[in-house]
Amino acid sequence: MKSNPKTAWNPERLDMRAFAQAGASLQAEEPLPGFERLHAEAVLEGQSSVGLVRWQARGEMRPGATGGEPTAWLHLQADTSVPLTCQRCLGPVDTPLAVDRWFRFVADEAAAAAEDDDCEEDLLALEPRPSLHDVLEDELLMELPLVPMHDTCPVPVTLRSGDPAVGDEDGGASPRKNPFAELARLKK
Ligand SMILES: [Zn+2]
Repeated sequence: MKSNPKTAWNPERLDMRAFAQAGASLQAEEPLPGFERLHAEAVLEGQSSVGLVRWQARGEMRPGATGGEPTAWLHLQADTSVPLTCQRCLGPVDTPLAVDRWFRFVADEAAAAAEDDDCEEDLLALEPRPSLHDVLEDELLMELPLVPMHDTCPVPVTLRSGDPAVGDEDGGASPRKNPFAELARLKK
C-alpha cells in the first residue's frame, strides 16, 4: 500500500489542466458496488465476494495540433471482472472488462460537441471538472458484451430446447401424455 503524498487531486472533480501540467497520476482499487450503474448489471446471486475495479489515470500536456496552446490529455486504464448472466445457460459468467483510453481535453462541453465530429480521439471538457469515476464507469459500461456467454457452459445445455422433459410453461400447447394421468385413467 503506497502512501499518498499530500496530493490535492480530487478524482470526483479533477482539475485536469493542473493534473496534466504536473504530469500527475492517480490509481486506486474500488469495490464494484461503488459503480452503481455497472453494479446493476452484475448477477449477485451466489457471489460471496465483491469484485474490485482497479484503475489508474495519468495526465500529460501535449503540443496543440496546429501549433496552438498545449493541450491536456488523460490516459485512463482500468480492469475488473463482472458476473453477468450467460445467455446460453443463464448461469453467472465472470466477464473481464478492460479500459485503455486516451482523452483530449477542451475548454468546455460546447467545444467538445463542436469538435467531436472532426477528431478520432475522445474529447472531454475541462469545465465543469470531470469526475474520473463517472468517465471510468461510462467506459466500463461500453465494454459490456451484448451477449455475455461462457466459452464452455458449466452445465449441459443441449437439452434445453425441444426437449419434452423441460418447460411446462407453454401451458401444455404440445399435446403429450402425462404417464400418471394415463395410469389414473387405466385404474378406473
Ligand atoms: Zn453458460
